[in-house]
Amino acid sequence: MNDPFSSVKIMGIPFANTTRKQFVEQLQTRVKNHQNTFVVTANPEIVMYARTDNSYRETILKADYISPDGIGIIKAANSLKTPLSERIAGYDIFTELVEWANKTHQKVYFLGAKSAVISALKSKLSTSFPNIQLVGAHDGYFKDEAVIAADIEHQQPDIVFVATGFPRQEKFIAQHRHLSNGLWMGVGGSFDVFVGNVKRAPKFWQTHHLEWFYRLLTDPRRLKRQMIIPQFMWEIHKLKNK
Ligand code: UDP
Repeated sequence: MNDPFSSVKIMGIPFANTTRKQFVEQLQTRVKNHQNTFVVTANPEIVMYARTDNSYRETILKADYISPDGIGIIKAANSLKTPLSERIAGYDIFTELVEWANKTHQKVYFLGAKSAVISALKSKLSTSFPNIQLVGAHDGYFKDEAVIAADIEHQQPDIVFVATGFPRQEKFIAQHRHLSNGLWMGVGGSFDVFVGNVKRAPKFWQTHHLEWFYRLLTDPRRLKRQMIIPQFMWEIHKLKNK
């Protein structure tokens, strides 16, 4: 973990212990200075996956910052008596950076999601964020990774958002981040939410920490994935009583 944040480890994964505001400001400073930066936004699913897949674990440990995405991480930190300042949702970082990139005319590359989502994204950017220098917008179902990598190298973006879901997005970033000295961040399903393809939970559900439950109700296929959360809480419970 890079300065200036302290970190809190949960199952060996170091989370940035700071506020969302400070976190985003730090990323902006690094973008302005052209510092190569890798950000992972990790939820309990990612922490549990990293336990079983060593190469993924090593990949995310190379990140400059890992942000606590998901209330499960905050609860785990509390219960281990090493509380974190704040939940920092990946989607919030994403939207704040998009707004800032528009204000400051950054070069941004968007990679991931279905091609219809990328089309909707392009039109939303051109109407609502016209000052972003859009240097790439490509869906996440590409065959030849080398072609995408060469394009990113050619375009030299200040920010690369990779929305192909974990573990793929982090592996892609770790492998290619040297191609452009900017911010590289895995943002999961953020493009889908941004264009309105998938709805984020209404504020009530968010403030009552029930966003996960809302997502489950609106997309029951997530049940299998979300079954990992009780397992995560159980592991934390065992650590607490060690
Ligand atoms: N995706 C992709 N390429 C793939 C598989 C998935 O671009 O080969 C995209 C998918 O369309 C979706 C995102 O990756 O936009 C993953 O979303 P998910 O909801 O799984 O991510 P989460 O936010 O839960 O991590």
